[in-house]
Parts: sequence; C-alpha cells; structure tokens
Amino acid sequence: MKHSGELAAMYQEMGISPKVAGFGNKILEELAERFCEIDETAEYNQLKVLQAMQKNQVSEACLLGTTGYGYNDLGRDTLEAVYADVFHTEDALVRPQITCGTHALALALMSNLRPGDELLSPVGKPYDTLEEVIGIRPSRGSLAEYGVTYRQVDLLPDGSFDYENIRKAVNERTRLVTIQRSKGYQTRPTLSVSRIGELIAFIKGIRPDVICMVDNCYGEFVETLEPTDVGADMAVGSLIKNPGGGLAPIGGYIAGQKSCVENAAYRLTSPGLGKEVGASLGILPQFYQGLFLAPTVTAGALKGAIFAANIYERLGFLVVPDGSESRHDIIQAVTFGTPEGVTAFCEGIQAAAPVDSHVTPEPWDMPGYDAKVIMAAGAFVSGSSIELSADGPIREPYAVYFQGGLTWQHAKFGILKSLQALVDKKIVQI
Ligand SMILES: *Cc1c(COP(=O)(O)O)cnc(C)c1O
Repeated sequence: MKHSGELAAMYQEMGISPKVAGFGNKILEELAERFCEIDETAEYNQLKVLQAMQKNQVSEACLLGTTGYGYNDLGRDTLEAVYADVFHTEDALVRPQITCGTHALALALMSNLRPGDELLSPVGKPYDTLEEVIGIRPSRGSLAEYGVTYRQVDLLPDGSFDYENIRKAVNERTRLVTIQRSKGYQTRPTLSVSRIGELIAFIKGIRPDVICMVDNCYGEFVETLEPTDVGADMAVGSLIKNPGGGLAPIGGYIAGQKSCVENAAYRLTSPGLGKEVGASLGILPQFYQGLFLAPTVTAGALKGAIFAANIYERLGFLVVPDGSESRHDIIQAVTFGTPEGVTAFCEGIQAAAPVDSHVTPEPWDMPGYDAKVIMAAGAFVSGSSIELSADGPIREPYAVYFQGGLTWQHAKFGILKSLQALVDKKIVQI
C-alpha cells in the first residue's frame, strides 16, 4: 500500500502500538472475501432505497417541514410511502414523535392489542425494556395493566424454535406474536430473515389471522430481504439505529399492513386524527438523507462487528456470532467473564470517539434495565447505537455488546483501541 508507512505512524500517534495494529491487520487479511459480500448487499440495498425514492418522486419540496398540526405534510407523507416501498408493505408510520425503539414497539403492541387479547413471544424473553411494556416486570401503564396477557416459549437449547410448545401456546386469545430478530442482551443467535419467515409460516398455519410483528432493531439492511418480505405484518425499529443512517437525531418506524399501521397512528396521535397530524418541523432532510446512507453505514458497522469477532475469538473469548458465521444484525457480543474486561473494552471504544473521547464511562442504573449498565458512546446523536458504541450489563456472564460505526475505518480504529486497552491492563496478551 502506497501510504502504509504514513498510516502506521498515524495509528501509533493515536495510541495504537505497532503490535496491536499488526495483530489487527493480520486478521483483516483473512476477511477480504466476506467484506466483498457485505459490499454487494449494500449495493443492492442502496438501489432498493434509491428506487423507492425515485418511484415516490421525492422532490425538493419534500425536504421542507411543517409546523403546528402538520396537515398535508408532503415530505412526511412521501417519506412514509418511501419506507413502505423499501419494506414492501402497504403503509408505514415514520415519525420524530416516536421517541425511540422501545416507544415504536410499545406503540405497535398497545395499538394492535385489546383487553382480553394475548401476546406471544415464541423466541424467548424479549429485549429488556419490553419487559416493562408487557408487564413481565410489573410496571405502570403496562399491557398487563390493561388486561393483555403474555405467554412466552423459549428457544430450545440449540437455538431452534420449539415448534411443539409454540403450537400449544397459540390459543383463541392469541392476537399478536412478537418476534425479536436481534439477540438484545442475550447470547442466543440472531434470527435470519429466512428463519423468521419459517416461524411466521408455522404460526400462520395454525392461526392465519394472528398479527406477526418483528422487532427489527439492528437488522435493517443487513440482508437484502426484510422480515416484511417473508410474511411479517409489521416491522418495527428505531431511527437512531440502522435506518437513520447516523443522521436521524430521533425517531422510530412501523412498516406493515395498512390496518396495523393505522391502529398505531390512531394511538400515536389520537382516534380520528391518525396519520393526518404530526408536524415534521425541520427534521425531514436528516430522515431522507439518513435512509439514503443507511445501506452503506450498516455495511461499515457490519464489517466492524466481523472484525471484532475475529480478533476476540482468536484471543480465546466466546464471541456471538462467531468469527465465520453469517450475519443477521450488526451486534457483536464478546464474553469477557469479568467486569474488568467489560470495562476495559468500553473504555477503549470511548477513547476512540469523535465526541467525548476524553471521558471515562462508568456503570449506572439505566431506566428500563434491571442491572447496572456500562455504555461507551461518544456520538454525535446522544445514545445513538449506529454510531460506534458498546454496552454491557454488569452481570454474569460479563458480556459486552458492541455495535455501529458510521464508517468502517472508524469501527476498525475503535476495535483496535479496545484491544489496546485490554493489552495495557494486562487482561489479554498478544
Ligand atoms: C435497541 C433495541 C430496542 C429498544 O430500542 P431503544 O431505542 O433503545 O428504545 C428494542 N429491541 C431491540 C432488539 C433493540 O436492539
């Protein structure tokens, strides 16, 4: 490489020892083919997004916002049509008034379930913050308080679906099935879109009228297909993860069947008003441009996850997914087995950030979580996890969850920084 001497000197200046940089580069050499496949997926998804924007005639006028009630907000309505086309659904709700992923999921659930209905998770425990939405952990305003019951069927020990018990769990009150694509704070495998499709087909085979919702957080644009391409009635996610492309400063989406999306809109705003109100203010340029960048941003994050998996696998740690398996979200779990390992890793990621690189992350009691959580995030958008970030609950098995990176080059630097921190603290030897 023409500038390799210059580059090596720059890494050293930025606190990466030649030994750590060399270790990383050696691993990188083995990943060329996989990185090519990721670029190809990004290319496909880039065209998919572009096609949806062109088909819906996104125009300069769409980038202007509305104020007040937001009636006839061309940009908002067109963006929702673009999302519906990207996800191949009848409709979509994409709003800055949806404050985060948990809110989008709570909205989809609370608007499509009625007292006396039952919610089923056939893939084990849902994401931590949903425990309070559902009422698994008693909480004010939960679905349980409104008389919606909950049933759960865990995955089998080998990670496969427990079809026998799922069949038993589906009953005449089952109204909605929630399927979480990503692993969340667990070490189970992430579900591929094709496995999600198999599960949905099985459930629809028992009860065709049950609504199948997929928590799509962290999964968007990782594959060429989305859950809505394989039978999901709704896909739900956060705009400060993949589909916001790092530019959306807030927001969530629900893409799906018209009736499901409308239910959500009537709950988000008000019965009778639905999608007709909700000013977009000045946010639409970031929503559009973020979606446009999302396929390549996701690709960069995915490369970072694979790089991290291979580094820490080589050093003998349990990594999920492992260094060679196929990817269905951008999360990488590394089990360090000690709080010190988790902390050192997060300190390294923080030190690599463009914002707040000088602060030291500490474990804290985050709302919605039942253990202390340490988070490394030096992001342009507060808490954004499509930007380079890492977090881990301080509890057994002391695993850290790493994700994001707006560019592959930044993800690579962050991972090398984390390795350097572990080497400096003598937690690992290379
Ligand atoms: C991040 C995440 C959520 C919640 O999203 P927030 O924006 O943090 O509220 C829900 N489910 C999964 C799988 C997630 O990764």
